[in-house]
Amino acid sequence: MRQLRLLALVLIGLLLCGCLPSPFKSEEKLRIVATTGMIADLARSLGGEQVEVISLMGPGVDPHLYRPTARDIARLNDADLILFNGLHLEGRMASIFENLPEKSFAVGAAVPSDQLLIAEEDEFDPHIWHSPDVWAKTIQPLADRLARERPDSKDLFHTRANQIEGEFLSLTAELRSEIDKIPPDHRILVTAHDAFAYFGRTFGLEVHAIQGINTTAEAGAKAMTDLADLIAERKIKAIFVETSVSPATIEALQRAVRARGHEVVVGGELYSDALGAAGTPEGTVAGMIRHNVRTLTEALK
Ligand SMILES: [Zn+2]
Repeated sequence: MRQLRLLALVLIGLLLCGCLPSPFKSEEKLRIVATTGMIADLARSLGGEQVEVISLMGPGVDPHLYRPTARDIARLNDADLILFNGLHLEGRMASIFENLPEKSFAVGAAVPSDQLLIAEEDEFDPHIWHSPDVWAKTIQPLADRLARERPDSKDLFHTRANQIEGEFLSLTAELRSEIDKIPPDHRILVTAHDAFAYFGRTFGLEVHAIQGINTTAEAGAKAMTDLADLIAERKIKAIFVETSVSPATIEALQRAVRARGHEVVVGGELYSDALGAAGTPEGTVAGMIRHNVRTLTEALK
């Protein structure tokens, strides 16, 4: 961490002397750095032409394990506003946000605590983007924050916020009717790490995972055995890999279930903690959730 601070100081010096080009293209737009693609997507939808957004973590990147690079530190220093998830999602970046409190905004802190889920060790579960209803709670507070930075565009930000909020709320209704195609006793979602608790609550699925909410801990042997027993006993048809987590634990689980005499398939790849590629439908939060619902409905129905 001391090395990181030293690196930050050196980079601030280089930026102040004009020795490094700015990572942002625009001089006039509000310069935003978002940690995850999910937050960048929201910032772009709300900010439109008034903002320039850089996302630090691209497709397939695990935010729990992410360490900022020297390039990231330069981007964070140059930003007008830093948007992060919080709720301990970006575990290895916390001190950076603490050191830049004036321009850091945690979208997770905007969600009323009675809508947050508590995970292990009494920590809040950070995976709020998987529930359109919960994610929608971050929209108005973020619009307020953008308006604070750019008061002239206040009305524009709030008009967009109302529209995006409406879209997320109708997404829940649309996708619940998809989930209805799965027989009730098949509505069980098994993944590598426990990213889908909000998703499960919103769409009515029972959720199980090999690892907890954080990918930093080793998968326990007991969790693996218990889950293999459960899948074999309840004859679950499919389990799922995640784009930002190694498929190794899910493949090991599949072998353990097979050893119990039940054939479970890998039902596809879900976007858990990172969006798909920019420019594809899965490159947005709404597209990510749609993909996940479609993938698991196909495999479990
Ligand atoms: Zn996660």
